[in-house]
Amino acid sequence: MADVDVMPGSSAPAAEDVSMNFETETFAFQAEINQLLSLIINTFYSNKEIFLRELISNASDALDKIRFEGLTDKSKLEAQPELFIHIVPDKANKTLSIIDSGVGMTKADLVNNLGTIARSGTKEFMEALTAGADISMIGQFGVGFYSAYLVAERVVVTTKHNDDEQYVWESQAGGSFTVKCDTSGEDLKRGTKITLYLKEDQTEYLEERRLKDLIKKHSEFISYPISLWTEKTTEKEVSDDEDEDKDEEEGKVEEIDESKDKKKKKKVKEVSHEWKLVNKQKPIWMRNPDEITKEEYAAFYKSLTNDWEEHLAVKHFSVEGQLEFKAVLFVPKRAPFDLFDGKRKMNNIKLYVRRVFIMDNCEELIPEYLSFVKGVVDSEDLPLNISREMLQQNKILKVIRKNLVKKCIELFTEITENKEDYAKFYEAFAKNIKLGIHEDSTNRAKLADLLRYHSTKSGDDMTSLKDYVTRMKDGQKDIYYITGESKKAVENSPFLEKLKRKGYEVLFMVDPIDEYAVGQLKEYDGKKLVSATKEGLKLEDTEEEKKRKEETKKAFESLCKLMKEILGEKVEKVVVSDRIVDSPCCLVTGEYGWTANMERIMRAQALRDSSMSSYMASKKTMEINPENAIMKELKKRAEADRSDKTVKDLVMLMFETALLTSGFSLDDPNMFAGRIHRMIKLGLSIDEDAGAEDEDMPPLEEETAAEEGSRMEEVD
Ligand code: ADP
Repeated sequence: MADVDVMPGSSAPAAEDVSMNFETETFAFQAEINQLLSLIINTFYSNKEIFLRELISNASDALDKIRFEGLTDKSKLEAQPELFIHIVPDKANKTLSIIDSGVGMTKADLVNNLGTIARSGTKEFMEALTAGADISMIGQFGVGFYSAYLVAERVVVTTKHNDDEQYVWESQAGGSFTVKCDTSGEDLKRGTKITLYLKEDQTEYLEERRLKDLIKKHSEFISYPISLWTEKTTEKEVSDDEDEDKDEEEGKVEEIDESKDKKKKKKVKEVSHEWKLVNKQKPIWMRNPDEITKEEYAAFYKSLTNDWEEHLAVKHFSVEGQLEFKAVLFVPKRAPFDLFDGKRKMNNIKLYVRRVFIMDNCEELIPEYLSFVKGVVDSEDLPLNISREMLQQNKILKVIRKNLVKKCIELFTEITENKEDYAKFYEAFAKNIKLGIHEDSTNRAKLADLLRYHSTKSGDDMTSLKDYVTRMKDGQKDIYYITGESKKAVENSPFLEKLKRKGYEVLFMVDPIDEYAVGQLKEYDGKKLVSATKEGLKLEDTEEEKKRKEETKKAFESLCKLMKEILGEKVEKVVVSDRIVDSPCCLVTGEYGWTANMERIMRAQALRDSSMSSYMASKKTMEINPENAIMKELKKRAEADRSDKTVKDLVMLMFETALLTSGFSLDDPNMFAGRIHRMIKLGLSIDEDAGAEDEDMPPLEEETAAEEGSRMEEVD
């Protein structure tokens, strides 16, 4: 038997330290978090109140977590069956505590989550702040906890997780925090208590009125009861003798002279405390949409997403019948900073079952391309104890998902009715729509209606495919488009010459994802989408035109053949073009292969290995323009002498130039430059040999000594 690998030292394990460690450990904040803390503490910022919203939101998240765990394992709730958020102002000590009976944190959680491991959002948030963002956006970046330092000089976090002892985290910022086992005797049972030692000028957050208003304003839609510890002073009339003991206790006694009464009576102020429930609203999705104002939706959206701006559009609906659910869906005004970050934790649709929160990022509820849509879904039919594993198979969920996608598309279509809003929407989420066209074959046609493109006829605006179709010329069968790097790069492309002359509109598709989307879309409204840069672009001709074309084709057959010989493997074939009017030639790609633009996109993806791209790379066809003077002259020379070296040189130059104008890149720019330099010398009548000292001139690898005699000088 082979030796089992033994970990170094494991042969003589040290005695496990099972006793609790009561020492205070000090940790340094991770560098970026430290920077963030300084920013929060030192930036002048008046809207500090948002700290409460952030801490309540964290409490609510922690409650969600334990409630979810409890659904499958009741014992997790045993230590503290009640789920609540308590807010306790303490005027005497100038502290404000936010207490939740949520999941709590283990010691490791405390160390990692509150200080040593930076979130991806830490840096992004600081960059956003530097760029003028508002501190109230903090929640969106996943670092909301640190907003406590807007109002507190010292923060103490006491927490108890089911799987660990009760620990205390404490920090005055300044680079470090401490963690120790809690020996105070206070028993949280389970959950977290965050105590803020308020700065001298922040004591307004001890006032009941202020706290109540704040919770109403920012945390109204939290689905756990939020109770505020309030102080009540009541006046009580007591006769003098009855009250002797109390007098001493309360201290404050007002003497009232009551002339009618013989007996002397006193009024005593009694101070008592009680919990006051602050959030009483029933969930917004359970209410009648007709009775909900835009402001209420906005408030709900903000509390749901931590967004600082209002939503762009909302859809509130219920589905009844075989299956029942209610939903509210929102489209934000902007894309999140990490929309297409693969590591991003999706936090889009919250799933409820009969008003009980089940989970946050239910991926089965909505396809990835709609991950920017936020909202809640409350199902009447799902079992309460549903687990993530069950979700994947669940039929009810599949039906809900189908409905949500349908409603999302309806919602987007509603946005198109307002031009300004739709422009905003499209700028933020066009990529998602295109991704949807690529992935969602069921809804492809409907999504295609949402596309907008600049075109040869759209001017500054963008056009929909629908509008394009209404503008199509008599006899135009297809929808034409060109793909490329930018509008500028494609709008004057040689590929558009003939199409423009015929008055056919061409769409500019300049987003890399367009290549993928259009590859799947293929047609719209029964009309084929045809690339202006690929083979197979056939424009309708009259009989006369056809005849003339045949003749030119014949006349140029020999030149085409010669050019193919010269270019060899560089091109698949050389043919007479039907699409260019002014330029001498262009390079088109196979109808089903990559376009030049796609080749560029693929090259840019560094990880792709080169063997793959040489296999997939576009097969190029060189198309020549028989009307062009250069081509006419070339034809003459080729007919005079098929081995004319100048013709060879010129054909190479034309090919390389066509690579550039057709959107490809040069394999060997030096060679191209060499040819151009020779042309320049020719233009300046400089003797070829005089260039010997010209160090910029690259060696002409391709030409051999035998070819020396055929340099460009001989052209004329
Ligand atoms: P976010 O809540 O957006 O993840 P925060 O900076 O607000 O970012 O909080 C960091 C982490 O600390 C949370 O993800 C959570 O794991 C933990 N945390 C914060 N507050 C609580 C709480 N009240 N109960 C349990 N865990 C908490």
